[in-house]
Amino acid sequence: MEYDVVVVGAGPAGLAAAIRLKQLAAEEGTEISVCVIEKGSEVGAHILSGAVFEPRALEELFPDWKERGAPLATPATDDRFLLLTKRHAFRLPTPPQMHNRGNYIISLGNLCRWLAKEAEALGVEIYAGFAGAEMLFDESGRVRGVATGAQGIGKDGQPTANFQPGVELCAKETLLAEGCRGSLTKQLVERFKLRAESGAQTYGIGIKELWEVDAAQHHPGRVIHSVGWPLDRATYGGSFLYHLENRQVAVGFVVGLDYKNPFLNPFEEFQRFKMHPAIRPTFVGGRRISYGARALNEGGYQAIPRLSFPGGLVIGCAAGFLNVAKIKGSHTAMKSGMVAAETVLRRLSGDLTADYHAALSSSWVWPELYQARNIRPGFRWGLWLGLAHAALDTYIFRGRAPWTMSHSADHLHLDRASAAQPIAYPKPDGVVSFDRLSSVFISNTNHEENQPPHLQLRDPAKAIDVNYALYDSPEQRYCPAGVYEIVKDDAGKPRLQINAPNCVHCKTCDIKDPTQNIDWVVPEGGGGPNYPNM
Ligand SMILES: Cc1cc2nc3c(=O)[nH]c(=O)nc-3n(C[C@H](O)[C@H](O)[C@H](O)COP(=O)(O)OP(=O)(O)OC[C@H]3O[C@@H](n4cnc5c(N)ncnc54)[C@H](O)[C@@H]3O)c2cc1C
Ligand code: SF4
Repeated sequence: MEYDVVVVGAGPAGLAAAIRLKQLAAEEGTEISVCVIEKGSEVGAHILSGAVFEPRALEELFPDWKERGAPLATPATDDRFLLLTKRHAFRLPTPPQMHNRGNYIISLGNLCRWLAKEAEALGVEIYAGFAGAEMLFDESGRVRGVATGAQGIGKDGQPTANFQPGVELCAKETLLAEGCRGSLTKQLVERFKLRAESGAQTYGIGIKELWEVDAAQHHPGRVIHSVGWPLDRATYGGSFLYHLENRQVAVGFVVGLDYKNPFLNPFEEFQRFKMHPAIRPTFVGGRRISYGARALNEGGYQAIPRLSFPGGLVIGCAAGFLNVAKIKGSHTAMKSGMVAAETVLRRLSGDLTADYHAALSSSWVWPELYQARNIRPGFRWGLWLGLAHAALDTYIFRGRAPWTMSHSADHLHLDRASAAQPIAYPKPDGVVSFDRLSSVFISNTNHEENQPPHLQLRDPAKAIDVNYALYDSPEQRYCPAGVYEIVKDDAGKPRLQINAPNCVHCKTCDIKDPTQNIDWVVPEGGGGPNYPNM
């Protein structure tokens, strides 16, 4: 199938790009064909975010978004920033980046569903349930589009009765909008050496639950962030707790993936956090509606790779425009998609000087990321010095310190198990804290079982010889879906069992595996979580 532009991924970046392309073409009185593919069973099915949403890019895309009925129903009215110790919660001054006046507490999944409708109304073709499995190249090595994965191939690699071949979507320009740690983006970064001049990208894992709470516990518009307990002071991370409409509360926990202790279990840290005396009462008497997890970029400004490759551009969190100090990336994702659309349209009309990187660096995205660039790296010195440095960088240097701190890839930070302290986590109480399997159940994750593995070990022997022997198989703990299990045979010989159907597509294993031995590739389209409104 031939298009002018193919977009891989129907998140805020991909949808904003598709909409802007159609808007600009209409303004110029030209025709442009735009196709968006999405691996989730529907748009929004794989979207997981906080989310406090800064509407700046949306205002630019649709100045009349209110009249059009965009699902931004709860203005953020009350910001709180807490330092937790095991028993107490101390309210700290809210850092300026975390002031949310003018922002909205939303479900990003629902915003994407709404954006998809607007896009379709403008003539964008959206195909949900189709995963971009392979980039297509012409003889000169230029990207000429993307192929979706075949359906109905069995575990043995042979076609089953349900076989349907993949589709080649050919495009003059391909936009990669796969979000954080995109699997095709990873291949192109390597092929075109897009990181040759940038720092390593770094990540966090965010685990989230959506609750319906008791009316007395519900304060629509309240935004709470915390640092400190239950994490130790050397580990970066913290919680978010957002009160939306309809008695809903989004609660989540982020752990920086540069953590050192292989015994750390981000899921258990999150469950433990909810047991804190200042947090637990919000959820007692409530009902957990949904659960999920997703990695997020933390590398910021210094980790932005080259953004264009022959035949296309990288947009949104696939490139890494999240502002860690704000914990927000959907506004920058949308803006990058819009700027990419403007560049692509100029290129398609013959202006080959159109430069996405230059255009984006003169937009508001650049100064915003530049100012925040040293805050996250400062936490390598631990919580106290990290907070002190963040205050210095914000209030004294105002983000303009004459240096830029660097960081290194997360998988390099793991200590050996022999040098680390095992962590004893409390048992779930079944009221506010739960186990992993019952949690995955409410992510509505579903994969065809008879398909080739989508979690691929480059060297299967390393699972035991390296991961088990040296790190006590940290994938057993960092995977928020319990996909990786060490099982022992009768003679006590360990083996790594991969329960791939449980995977919620967070991409943490692809990031944190100490020898980068795990490759996450797309499973059959439509597989994965089915988040309602995350
Ligand atoms: C726990 C957490 C909390 C957050 N909180 C906030 C917040 O409060 N405010 C905020 O602004 N931001 C927040 N963010 C960040 C925000 O969610 C991201 O910045 C934003 O979603 C990035 O948009 P995107 O379109 O680039 O990628 P995504 O939203 O990740 O969308 C990518 C889409 O592409 C699809 N896709 C991926 N690969 C393929 C493929 N090969 N083929 C087909 N489809 C594919 C995915 O299924 C997905 O639908 C948070 C993130 C997390 C994880
Ligand atoms: S298998 Fe990997 S991508 Fe899937 S849920 Fe586990 S850590 Fe995330």
